[in-house]
Formats: sequence, C-alpha cells, structure tokens
Amino acid sequence: MAGGINPEQFCAKPTLIVMNVPDSAQPQQVAVIGGGPAGLMAAEVLSQNGVQVDLYEAKPSAGRKFLVAGKGGLNLTHSEPLDQFLSRYGERRARLEPLLRDFGPDELRQWALELGFETFVGTSGRVFPRDMKAAPLLRTWLKRLRSSGVRFHLRHKWCGWDENGALRFETPQGEKLVHARAVILALGGGSWPQLGATGEWVPLLRQRGVPVAALKPANCGFEVAWSEHFRERFEGQPIKTVALSFTSSQGFSFQQQGEFIITRTGVEGSLIYAVSSYLRDEIESAGNAQVYLDLAPDWTQSSLEQRLSRPRGSRSLASHLKRSIGLSGVKAGLLWEFVAKEDFSDPQHLASAIKKLPLPILQPRPLAEAISSAGGVRFEALDEGLMIRSLPSLFCAGEMLDWEAPTGGYLLTACFSSGRAAGLGVLEWLKTTES
Ligand SMILES: Cc1cc2nc3c(=O)[nH]c(=O)nc-3n(C[C@H](O)[C@H](O)[C@H](O)COP(=O)(O)OP(=O)(O)OC[C@H]3O[C@@H](n4cnc5c(N)ncnc54)[C@H](O)[C@@H]3O)c2cc1C
Repeated sequence: MAGGINPEQFCAKPTLIVMNVPDSAQPQQVAVIGGGPAGLMAAEVLSQNGVQVDLYEAKPSAGRKFLVAGKGGLNLTHSEPLDQFLSRYGERRARLEPLLRDFGPDELRQWALELGFETFVGTSGRVFPRDMKAAPLLRTWLKRLRSSGVRFHLRHKWCGWDENGALRFETPQGEKLVHARAVILALGGGSWPQLGATGEWVPLLRQRGVPVAALKPANCGFEVAWSEHFRERFEGQPIKTVALSFTSSQGFSFQQQGEFIITRTGVEGSLIYAVSSYLRDEIESAGNAQVYLDLAPDWTQSSLEQRLSRPRGSRSLASHLKRSIGLSGVKAGLLWEFVAKEDFSDPQHLASAIKKLPLPILQPRPLAEAISSAGGVRFEALDEGLMIRSLPSLFCAGEMLDWEAPTGGYLLTACFSSGRAAGLGVLEWLKTTES
C-alpha cells in the first residue's frame, strides 16, 4: 500500500508558500513529528530535561488512535512476568528488550499513576486505567506537556525535506519550512489511516536510503469464502469458547482457546488476532492457510460420539445436535457450512468434525482495517538511541519501527517505551554535538 505512494505527490501542492517563517529563521532544538503515544512520550522526556520541543501533528488534534484504543477500555499494558511479557515481541524481543527493561509495564503504570490515573489488573492479566478511558488521561497529559513548554503545531503534515534539508510541512497557511537540531519521527504504522497514521512516510525514508520493511496488517481479520446463506444468517455473531489450532508448513504449532466473530467477509476478534501473524506469514509463503476449530472444547471425542449415537427418532438433525450435545446457532451453522451432509448421520465423523473442523483461510483483511502494523523502519538501521545511523540527528519511535506484538497492551507499552528511548537518544545526541 504505502510502497506505491509517490513522495512527490504525498503533499498537495501548497496554495501559498511561506518561506522563512519565524520557525525556520531560528533552528529549533528538537522537532517531534507525530502526536501519538510514542511522539508525546518523546516530547515529555525532552521537555522534562529542559529541551525546547516543537511537536508537529498532521491532524487537528493529537492522540486520535490512542483515543480510539480507549473505546476498548484502554489496555495500557500487561501484568504477566517480564520475561513472558518480553517474549510477546517474538523475533524483535532482543531489539526491544533494553527499551522495555528501562521503561516497561511497571514503569508505565507508575507513569500513569503520577499523571493521576490509577490502573488495575483485569481478570485476563491486562492492565487498564481505573476509569477504562483514554480521553481524561490524554487531556491531562497534553495539559502537562503544554505547561512544561512543548509547543504543539497541529494541522502540520510533514512531507519530507527540501533541497537544503529543511523539514517541509503542509499547513492550512501553505508550506512551512523548519530546521531543527534533531528530529524524532513518530508517525505510526498504516492501520486505521483515518486516525492519522497513513504509512505515507515509507517512500520518504526509502528515498533517503533508510531500510523499511513493507507495512503489513497485524492483529487483523481474515477472509473466508462463506456461502451466501451462512453470511446472511450469521454475520456479526460471536463464536464463544472454541479452541483454535494451526500448524504452519514450517511445523510451528499454535493452539488457543477463545472467541471470535463472524464478519461479512470472514473472521475477526481476539482469538483470530492472536494467530494472525502466523496466518499472514503462512498465506504469504504458501498461498493459503487452514485452521482447525474445536467447537466443543469441554467434551472428549468419545463422549460426543456416545451422545450423538443416541437414537434421534423423528427429531431433525439440528434439534438432535442441540438436544444431545447443546450445539446450535452459529456453531451448528459452521458444521453445516463445512461438513458433508452424509457425515451428519455418522456419529463418529460428526464428532471428529466438531472436535477438528477445518476452516480455510483465504487472505488477511487490508492493513487499513488492522489493529496494528507489522513492518517499518528496520532496527539494523538504528543505533541504541533509535537514531538512523545513516542520517544523524534523525530518530524514529513507536509503531513505525519494524516490530509487531499481539493485543494485550504490548502495542502501547512498546510505543511509550520506544518514544522514551528516542527522547533519551536525542538528549545524548544534543550533548555530544553541543558546540
Ligand atoms: C481500534 C484500535 C484499538 C487499539 N487498542 C489498543 C489497546 O487497547 N492497547 C494497545 O496496546 N494498543 C492498542 N491499539 C494500538 C495502539 O493504539 C497503537 O499501537 C499506538 O497508538 C501507536 O502509537 P504511535 O505513537 O506509534 O502511532 P499513532 O498513535 O498512530 O500516532 C502517530 C501520529 O502521527 C501523526 N502523523 C502521521 N503522519 C504524519 C505526518 N506526515 N505529519 C505529521 N503527523 C503525522 C498521526 O496523525 C498520528 O497522530 C489499538 C489500535 C486500534 C486501531
């Protein structure tokens, strides 16, 4: 998606060119671009250390995705032991571990508390603010940032650099050029682009030789070729408590119990998100993927067989399923969708289908619909302070870095943590380059 954007067309031609506005006359200390959790945390670290920060945000307000995350209760982080927590970042654990050891789940909870927002651990181990809302926390945080001197420039869309290395911003007043001693990009990934993170930065950085892994959907839904009948009847319905198993062609196995939702185009929801990175990668390498559902995880196959073997008399198959094993509604619908009619009259076949129903997965839903993005600026390009080695004074943080994690608070924690790391990186950089 973002790979196809022409950087020249990224910003609309400005109607008015404003050159040498006061901002550009005096080089700014630090420009943070992107007002999500990563950018705001970077700004906080810098301003608390006496650095003048100018924060640029394309949208009319900061933290829009953070606010939407609040609609789900704002799962800030997770309470599991740190080692387990770190394992959620998979192959990127080694890169993120130093950052998360410096500022991880406990530090994030303490930070929220100091801001005035106590957190609690839910039954799943996930951590939420007591009021489960993002808006009050964001409001208080922005107020604190403003009072510590951070200057916000809203409706400022960064469009790259001019030939003199100045940052170019598209603003309602026309183009604005800005020089800064250091810049932190915290532009987010490419999911839910209506909230500001569009992934349009990818070609801008690639053009400057920065290695960027293609943005891909993470924690996303998938397409399934439902029959018209199934779709019409069951779209929007939750499938509660099933066990989902998947084995990749490389032999990797996933098994988890949980819930998901039938959508018009396929499946989505927490259980699907949990397996989504494996399914996405399998589809990428093998063309398709198949998961298996255990529709009755509390039953053994033999007890199912026994119950299903009871005479059904004049009852319909649907009512036999319901009366004998309590299977009805969308779960029974899934059986009708994928099991051959003749297998319904064979208790053994039917029981095995209930315990291991194959669900063919076609492809992930588009990045724009995903909860988060995989891919981004490769860690190999960055130093420990998250500065792009080949472009000194340019730092990156947040979801625009090449990592992914499941839902459960891991996304926000790594965004806060990397924002802080980039802020600290800039502090070091300013010290070493002081004239
Ligand atoms: C529906 C939903 C629910 C979620 N719930 C949770 C949850 O409960 N827990 C969790 O851990 N995670 C959750 N997430 C993920 C989490 O919100 C993101 O991972 C996180 O917001 C990323 O932070 P960021 O600062 O890197 O980027 P973003 O929050 O995306 O912020 C990037 C900012 O940069 C700005 N920007 C982009 N391009 C430009 C430009 N060219 N010029 C100027 N500004 C620009 C954008 O407008 C945006 O404000 C959820 C995501 C979604 C979509």
